[in-house]
Amino acid sequence: MRVVIAGAGFGGLELAALLSAELGEAADVVLIDKSAEFVFGFSKLDVMFGRTTAQHVAHRYADVVRPGIRFVQSTIRALDPVAKRVNTDDDTFDADIMVVALGADVDPSATPGLVDEFYTVAGAFAMRDVLARFAGGHVVIGVTSTPFKCPPAPSETALLMHDFLDQKGLRDSSHVSLVMPLGTPIPPSPDASQAILAAFAEHGIDWHPGQSVRSFDADRRVAILSGGEELPCDLFLGVPLHRAPAVVLESGMAVDGWIPVNRLTLETEFPDVFAVGDVTSVGTPKAGVFAEGQAGVVAAQIVARVRGSQTARTYDGRGICYLEFGRDLVAKVDVTFLGGQAPAGFLRGPSAELLADKTAFGSDRIRRWFNRSWTPLGT
Ligand SMILES: Cc1cc2nc3c(=O)[nH]c(=O)nc-3n(C[C@H](O)[C@H](O)[C@H](O)COP(=O)(O)OP(=O)(O)OC[C@H]3O[C@@H](n4cnc5c(N)ncnc54)[C@H](O)[C@@H]3O)c2cc1C
Repeated sequence: MRVVIAGAGFGGLELAALLSAELGEAADVVLIDKSAEFVFGFSKLDVMFGRTTAQHVAHRYADVVRPGIRFVQSTIRALDPVAKRVNTDDDTFDADIMVVALGADVDPSATPGLVDEFYTVAGAFAMRDVLARFAGGHVVIGVTSTPFKCPPAPSETALLMHDFLDQKGLRDSSHVSLVMPLGTPIPPSPDASQAILAAFAEHGIDWHPGQSVRSFDADRRVAILSGGEELPCDLFLGVPLHRAPAVVLESGMAVDGWIPVNRLTLETEFPDVFAVGDVTSVGTPKAGVFAEGQAGVVAAQIVARVRGSQTARTYDGRGICYLEFGRDLVAKVDVTFLGGQAPAGFLRGPSAELLADKTAFGSDRIRRWFNRSWTPLGT
């Protein structure tokens, strides 16, 4: 049974690793990505703030040497969910089971004046040099629309920015503002939101909830908010508009911009076609931990089919998020999104011990996916 996985991010890598671990050489898996390397979302912040190097956080797909897995580096140009066919720049792949794990793209051009974004690998790595040159002033971290990946990330960015400026002796001459369309930093977890708001208050970070950044005027050096308010802005770190990759939108699989799936099995409306992660509208936030949990459910179904058995495993909507509070303090939120119920999230920390937990989270995945040892903040 040939499984073609479109996209080797959090969801695609987890699915490929699970299929290989369960089926070995019996897994006939083609894993396709346009990139040569995988980078964790949180590593973007680590590089941007100079806590590690770009080279250290890039994991080469060429190192995915697992029984039954073939990695192909090529750009996917067309997905046919009826024929279960994937066309790339170099080849065509026919699948018995097709899994779309292509994530969410960002579109900075949708926000007038948005130049400096930190949500792509290239944008975050370039921001490191911008920050290295920054001499202090008004910093605005601004979300431009919903949905956006990793809802806690802009809050973490504000707290890490405080630390960064403090360490460079620029905090007294700087002002940090965070603009977010959400009403609280992490809506499913009031405890986590309260802890973040307390840290903002302690560090003098201005919090603008329920608003987005509509545009940035570089000449007047102001960020213009959705409500019309203008914030002085010498450095704008934008979270751009998110949308499904064009190849997904052109495939006819998307409804209202994202791929609808059965929220228990991750099956799309097309037989033997699944979708996992940010590209779906499954109802969990766009974050790697949820893509990973969904990949586990799809893996269980594929393994059962290969073995001619059945699985009762369904998606539980659970994920664990780590939150950087700066000064090497990390908190952990355990959150579950169940259909028809208000999501519930529980907070531990922030504490120095949980930094070790987060380190283990990253190290464990790189060991399972790339078969090598790694620590997120090494060099
Ligand atoms: C600053 C920041 C911090 C974050 N921190 C965290 C965190 O701490 N914890 C967490 O869980 N999540 C975090 N995230 C979110 C996380 O990175 C994403 O939600 C997660 O990677 C989604 O997984 P995915 O498999 O759905 O998609 P992705 O991991 O985005 O993978 C999609 C893959 O598809 C490939 N692709 C796209 N189009 C094509 C094409 N046409 N042809 C070929 N390949 C293509 C891409 O190259 C990519 O490798 C963070 C994100 C950001 C931006």
